[in-house]
Amino acid sequence: MNTNHIRQVVIVGGTHGNERIGLYLVKKFNQDSSLLFRPNLTTNCLIGNPQACKENQRYIETDLNRCFIKADLDNHLLGRHEEKQAKVLHEQLGPKGNSENFLLDLHSTTANMGLTLILVNDHPFNLHLAAYLTHHNPQVRVYRWTQENQENAFVSSLCQLGFAIEVGPIPQGILLASLFKETETLIHQTLDYLEQVNRGASPPLPKTLTLFQHLEVVDYPKTSNGELAGMIHPQLQGRDYQPLNPGDPIFLTFEDQTLFYEGCSTVWPIFINEAAYYEKGIAMCLTHKQDISLK
Ligand SMILES: [Zn+2]
Repeated sequence: MNTNHIRQVVIVGGTHGNERIGLYLVKKFNQDSSLLFRPNLTTNCLIGNPQACKENQRYIETDLNRCFIKADLDNHLLGRHEEKQAKVLHEQLGPKGNSENFLLDLHSTTANMGLTLILVNDHPFNLHLAAYLTHHNPQVRVYRWTQENQENAFVSSLCQLGFAIEVGPIPQGILLASLFKETETLIHQTLDYLEQVNRGASPPLPKTLTLFQHLEVVDYPKTSNGELAGMIHPQLQGRDYQPLNPGDPIFLTFEDQTLFYEGCSTVWPIFINEAAYYEKGIAMCLTHKQDISLK
């Protein structure tokens, strides 16, 4: 793949129909294509799941952002709404793993994630761009959601280049002007970098990048019937990206009993109390904070 010249940038909003910031940014950009114009860059915007956006629902039948496993994309027996929509997007933006596009997938979260880039691979191009963005925008954090021997199923996994942008906290189904504008700025900073690459320039970069590497997901306490038995502990609520040490409070049961983190080392939880993850059995994702040096 030629990383000295980005063929096309694709910005996807509304992959989840109740995440309105990405949807309305894409609508805005599509109304006036001059907004994203860079002389050496071609940028297109599209809505990931138009039907779900119309209904202001995360999805119609299943989570679109878990439908991009290669075998599933090739399996024409899978005919639920999002499984079909994934094949449409794959046709437009793929083929998965070999696409020359740079993909930005816009999301929002009810968790206190600030501005997060979610990387789904280790491509040096993405790490360099992430370092550039954290340097120019110190609010930006970088989360790498890779798991050994496990294929990623996100929209953003269609292309080697690019990532998802996850912003929060924001309730589902609404807009917040502050996060809307911060996301828009981040998109412009990304395009500025890509424009420099296409002009043949090498934007100056910091030598290291701080990233939060995915470790594992943690479920809520449950009864033997699988019913919720507790909530995020008030001392943990909203503390995404803050260190959680062994013995720190993590959940509060409905009987007012505090449950403590029983791991053996410090972790950095994120996606704490994300509304869409209750059905997935995810109360938070644990990460390890690390500094990596850039080559
Ligand atoms: Zn989302």
